[in-house]
Amino acid sequence: MGTLMDLRRWMERFAELVAADADRLTRLDAAIGDGDHGANLNRGLRAAVEALGPDLPPGKVLMTAGRALVSKTGGASGPLYGGALRRAGKALGDTADVDAPALGTALQAALDAVRELGKAVEGDKTMVDALAPAVEAYGAAAGDGVATAAQAALEAAEKGAEATVPMQARKGRASYLGPRSVGHLDPGAASTVLLFRALAEVAGD
Ligand code: ADP
Ligand code: MG
Ligand code: MG
Repeated sequence: MGTLMDLRRWMERFAELVAADADRLTRLDAAIGDGDHGANLNRGLRAAVEALGPDLPPGKVLMTAGRALVSKTGGASGPLYGGALRRAGKALGDTADVDAPALGTALQAALDAVRELGKAVEGDKTMVDALAPAVEAYGAAAGDGVATAAQAALEAAEKGAEATVPMQARKGRASYLGPRSVGHLDPGAASTVLLFRALAEVAGD
């Protein structure tokens, strides 16, 4: 059924998009951080995809990927992405078929985890600036099905990431730069766009 989500394919596609864009993510991080975001996430997602067996139930897919990300990614982004996916998987429980509302609940749990772990609010120039509007847009469109909601989430993530450019960082390494962090796209917000691009692509098939 087209309205159900294959979460393993989502994680695989996310890994592919990050691998293809790793250099760009690393360049973004070189400008306002330590230049390792693309490499960090690429390494973590490779491990995550490898950890996914063929017949895992949906909640376990996200929990397994999250656990691999926490242990293999390194950097601030590992525990944040990993914690987010673990919490999302937990929220799914033993749901067998991930429909639009179930995925919305999982995405909300992921956002809650990132907020709790990183203590960033919108406007701090972090992945939260892409993730929060994406989750909100997904929720608003969830009644129209996964593909429509995922597309709305992607567009909101892109807008949210773009909005980090004029911000001054208040969390993470970029905050050490103070006003010199202004004028650059946040790398974690950029990789969050890829998470939602992967979702929109997989949900659209
Ligand atoms: P590190 O900064 O440890 O090298 P990465 O380069 O992998 O880690 O990830 C940097 C990204 O992590 C930032 O661009 C930002 O989006 C995100 N980030 C850092 N700290 C926080 C935080 N406290 N809350 C949310 N996101 C954060
Ligand atoms: Mg870094
Ligand atoms: Mg680092």
